[in-house]
Amino acid sequence: MQIRNNGRGVRAAPSLVFTGCSATATAPGAPRAGGQRRQVVVGGRRVNTVDVHAHCIVPKTYEMMGKKMEDHQFPDLDEVGPKRIAAMDRQGVDIEALSINPFWYRTERDLAAEIVRIQNEALAEMCGKYPDRLVAFASVALQFPDLAVHQLEHAVKKLDLRGAAVGASCAGDEFSDPKFHPFWAKAEELGVLIFVHPQSTPDLAKRFKGNGWLANTIGNPLDTTICLSHLIFEGTLDRFPGLKICAAHGGGYLPSYAPRSDHACRVAPWHCNPDVKLKKKPTEYLRTMYYDTLVFTSEMLRHLAAEVGASQLVIGTDHPIPWHQDPVTHIMNAPGFSDEERIAMLGGTAAKLLGIKP
Ligand SMILES: [Zn+2]
Repeated sequence: MQIRNNGRGVRAAPSLVFTGCSATATAPGAPRAGGQRRQVVVGGRRVNTVDVHAHCIVPKTYEMMGKKMEDHQFPDLDEVGPKRIAAMDRQGVDIEALSINPFWYRTERDLAAEIVRIQNEALAEMCGKYPDRLVAFASVALQFPDLAVHQLEHAVKKLDLRGAAVGASCAGDEFSDPKFHPFWAKAEELGVLIFVHPQSTPDLAKRFKGNGWLANTIGNPLDTTICLSHLIFEGTLDRFPGLKICAAHGGGYLPSYAPRSDHACRVAPWHCNPDVKLKKKPTEYLRTMYYDTLVFTSEMLRHLAAEVGASQLVIGTDHPIPWHQDPVTHIMNAPGFSDEERIAMLGGTAAKLLGIKP
């Protein structure tokens, strides 16, 4: 089904189809007209590169929330077809793990359930069209944790989705809230990755007004920082030691200033809950989570690896939002990494986390 024409033009009413995968799509993995697939080679080995941070949207559910696709600031989000595959070819990204940023966390149960159902089926269908190029994270209605548990299990077991994408909090509740324990328990049991993508620290919206898109520029890394700090300090990561979390944007600000967390309860113990007895120093938990490489310089990548371990890093591009035009060269050119570390960052680690076979 054709659902868009030349950007913001008229589009036919979308059904629960997904975007842009039409009968005109070429065969999965085949070279696309007008461009060549960039081959990434490290130490003589062809590396299957994996991008864990790639967005899309299903127009039908977006419009179910009373929003219009043509008003979206990044309208290419609805094109998951030949154009996107060609862009991946140019980037040297072999596989994208698609996700949809939550916009349904404050809706009532039936609507949230319907949005998630439609999206997860659409994501599965997109992946089915390009089985060697796309995998996807499920959407979940996390405001209803019992529902989210079932949605995650269904998505993983029946739709072959590879985990779930969540915000950095849910309708004002931190992820460390015990109400979410059943969801983390299910993710741990299934062994799937949870991709944490921030939503701009909405509580600070007033202070983010003005020039510089601060709601995103600052708000997103801050939102992730708050989220991960709660998961650490409230003992959530102790309770679910097998939980696999992957944070967008290199984990926000947390890895940049993490050692401060190791001193807080020494300096001001009256601000720390004596009932929470962490098994490790706060910074040690950083090495149990995963982070995308959407940081902007070699020095930032070096520092991130120093704080969390190169083994915890995976490509993140934000595609099709053009934060990172050349995510592969970013890793290839950063000094100080071994070939094995580069191969792991470029795709080896993500492939294991997402169940992608070599
Ligand atoms: Zn993003």
